[in-house]
Amino acid sequence: MERLPDPVNLAVPVFVLLVLAEMIVAAIKDRTRYEPRDTLTSLALGLGSTVAGVLSAGAVFALATWVWQFRLFDIGYAWYWFVVAFVIDDFAYYVFHRSAHRVRWFWASHVIHHSSQHYNLSTALRQTWTAFFSLAFLFRLPLFLIGFPPAMVFFVAGVNLIYQFWIHTEVIGRCPRWFEAVMNTPSHHRVHHATNARYLDRNYAGVFIVWDRMFGTFELERDDDRPRYGIVHQLGSFNLLWAATHEWIGIARDVWTAPWRAKLGYLWRPPGWSHDGSRETSETIREKWTVRDGRAP
Ligand SMILES: [Zn+2]
Ligand SMILES: [Zn+2]
Repeated sequence: MERLPDPVNLAVPVFVLLVLAEMIVAAIKDRTRYEPRDTLTSLALGLGSTVAGVLSAGAVFALATWVWQFRLFDIGYAWYWFVVAFVIDDFAYYVFHRSAHRVRWFWASHVIHHSSQHYNLSTALRQTWTAFFSLAFLFRLPLFLIGFPPAMVFFVAGVNLIYQFWIHTEVIGRCPRWFEAVMNTPSHHRVHHATNARYLDRNYAGVFIVWDRMFGTFELERDDDRPRYGIVHQLGSFNLLWAATHEWIGIARDVWTAPWRAKLGYLWRPPGWSHDGSRETSETIREKWTVRDGRAP
């Protein structure tokens, strides 16, 4: 099997330089963009996520290689296969990311990335510690079954992650129209990180925004509805361990206290679902907003 470098490792120095550059811009233009404790929390969560990734990499790679032996096609390392792998992997990312917002089990891991109330390049580095535990790697297995070599898939997945770094900024307003039409951009991803009723559970794309346009989850950022960032029930804490595990603890508590017939619902239904309807989901929040503002649903 080929050995390919990990592109994310190579990109880290550039990430650090760009965060510093954005900090300087923010210091001059808009001081509210960076909050020291928030930035430190994001950086520490990013570091922890990297450690967790290294610890689980061997197991994930072994599983990928095991699945790959049942592949349908023999795919080589020609450059165009990298391109095809990149596009299919980005679609797999869309499916994963949509599930990460619509199934509480996956949300418990992904919520970390959304737990900052600020939106800047350091937010991009705020990544989960519990990806392996949540079984997020399952979403990539179809690529190995098709026949893409594990080393190739992990390489393009790394490039995908690098792309997603630069879109976590308010410094860039809108990109050229053709670019906004095809690619995920800062504007589209600000919508994804917003808690405004209009923006909840929208724009799941990694690199190509076309998936959201195709599957009806696209929402355009509007100047008359500025994004408010974070999660519906804000974390209100800079405690790393709490940030990394709070939703898992919430799930455990709900499963423990719920009646038997409802226990599983707290695992696979959307965040905010409850068996007695006492909580709010994205749907109920959006419904209320639609009625209150007299909008057509
Ligand atoms: Zn998300
Ligand atoms: Zn993001």
